[in-house]
Amino acid sequence: MADAQQTLQALVEMSNELGRPERDLVILGEGNTSALCDDGSFYVKASGTELRTIDADGFVRVWVAPVAALADQASLSDDDLKAALEAAKVDATNKRRPSVETVLHALALSETSAKFVGHTHPVAVNALMCSVAVTDAISGRLFPDEIVVCGPAPAYVPYTDPGLPLARAVRDAFHRFQDEWGMSPKVVLMQNHGLIALGSSPREVNSISEMYVKTCRILAGSYAFGGPHFLTDEAVQRIHTRPDELYRRTQLKLG
Ligand SMILES: [Zn+2]
Repeated sequence: MADAQQTLQALVEMSNELGRPERDLVILGEGNTSALCDDGSFYVKASGTELRTIDADGFVRVWVAPVAALADQASLSDDDLKAALEAAKVDATNKRRPSVETVLHALALSETSAKFVGHTHPVAVNALMCSVAVTDAISGRLFPDEIVVCGPAPAYVPYTDPGLPLARAVRDAFHRFQDEWGMSPKVVLMQNHGLIALGSSPREVNSISEMYVKTCRILAGSYAFGGPHFLTDEAVQRIHTRPDELYRRTQLKLG
């Protein structure tokens, strides 16, 4: 079991890594990250911070249960939401304001098997998310490593207002995915918005983000050659469940 300080340190390193400019995943204050602690709390990026340079002071620790429960409130004004997030802080003297997407992170950490969450706006992914081709383009898998690292499919959320409506739509997508595949998604795609990588470790969040960016680059390239040739459902199933691929997943610490 990691103590909270170790979790926070791992989250800082993961966030700086995701924010590296040459990776093209985020610019300025884009994106947000979180990590689950063992006591039912989690760290989430504070508003007004940048992943590239964020340090331990750039995160706020809040309780999962009261934040996740906000998704069930029928209507909540922006001020009510702000007050409820303030009240959910583990340390009330912390002056930082949790990210606007804190409810989404609480749901990701309580409704999936993820311990670390990295939400980014990669150029290669958003070229696809902002295109008219998005639903066709993500309807199939392209190559074995996509499946090994990013799972048998991405979960997909049509464009939704950021904040509580988006958090609810993402939760619905988790449930649809779990019903279909009997596991948590690794990748959530949000139309006209970006990517969420759900991992058991910082390394897995980084690997998922990197591999999904590669998938989108290959997908874009495939359209230049007449369109993607998707793997058959049987091939996807086989790679998803093959013993040697499960072994590879374990070796890559992909959980
Ligand atoms: Zn975003």
